[in-house]
Amino acid sequence: MAKQAGSSTTPEGLVVRVRDLHVYFFTDLGVSRALNGVSLDIPAGKVTGVVGESGCGKSVTALSIMRLVPHPGRITKGEILLYREREKQNGHSIVEEVNLTDLDPQGPVIRSIRGAELAMIFQEPMTSLNPSYTIGDQIMEAILLHQQCTRKEAEERAVDILARAGMPNPQTVVRRYPHELSGGMRQRAMIAMALSCTPSVLFADEPTTALDVTTEAQILDLMRELQAAMGMAIVFITHNLGVVAQMCDTVAVMYLGRVVEQAPVEPLFYDPQHPYTRALLRSIPHVGSRTKARLQPIRGVVPDPYATIEGCPFHPRCDYRKPGLCDVRVPATTQVGENHTVRCFLYTEQGEDNG
Ligand code: SF4
Repeated sequence: MAKQAGSSTTPEGLVVRVRDLHVYFFTDLGVSRALNGVSLDIPAGKVTGVVGESGCGKSVTALSIMRLVPHPGRITKGEILLYREREKQNGHSIVEEVNLTDLDPQGPVIRSIRGAELAMIFQEPMTSLNPSYTIGDQIMEAILLHQQCTRKEAEERAVDILARAGMPNPQTVVRRYPHELSGGMRQRAMIAMALSCTPSVLFADEPTTALDVTTEAQILDLMRELQAAMGMAIVFITHNLGVVAQMCDTVAVMYLGRVVEQAPVEPLFYDPQHPYTRALLRSIPHVGSRTKARLQPIRGVVPDPYATIEGCPFHPRCDYRKPGLCDVRVPATTQVGENHTVRCFLYTEQGEDNG
């Protein structure tokens, strides 16, 4: 299950690597191909944005890495590798490679990783916080499960992490129930709970969508601050490209269950390569733009998840499609710049069979 991967970090400085991941939902209506060959690199200690229209597989990717794909979904192909530092030997740390796809999703190994090394916060905290337990009990549960300490020490850590999450009066809030807090305070409590065991990767699934803009700005600042202080990686799932530009170091653009482009944030915004990324950027307003050109929505709609599309999944909506190629084969991933990859026949002639 685990093997030693080398010196202090992996050669690529990654904390998670996802390769050719397929997740299908087997329902009475047919098979929904939620992920159809996702390949994604998550660098250690950086913020990775995952963007795309609704239904492109952003949340399922995060849930798959956490091994929390709900029934009737199943990982059918691909691998998820977690790189974690273990004890130091002769001044060097050992990096262990754990293939998460090999693990029983209910088993003890993934349970020890989930919460401690991989944590997640969701869009609506009320659906994730238990209304019958105090905020303190819920944070302490994670601490007591993953760290060896007494209840009193766990309570002290809960107060401390709430204070770091910017919660006013943390000593009082630990004894409060979720319904007694405002939306912003509940999201801070969720962040505190997720960070209580200092994870290496935090998945944040649209964490500010339900908040007003002032609270959203405070929560984004807080997450950036905590990320820098704790050195963890954040995977920020959003459809808001403005938030991505503000928060992220690197961006993965998803379309219909695949990552079609991944790049550092500047090349992605100033020199996008994939026709879908370009179309996404043309469809949002730009502050300071002097032209009176209308925003251009992306032509067509995201196809039905039960439909099988031959070739490049974007070809029915793409202005650059090459008949006889784009509608037959899936383009392979090509390197087009430093840490910049794209899946499109404009940059390669290599293709793959349909997943
Ligand atoms: Fe468009 Fe073809 Fe590129 Fe797909 S592979 S994005 S259809 S040009």
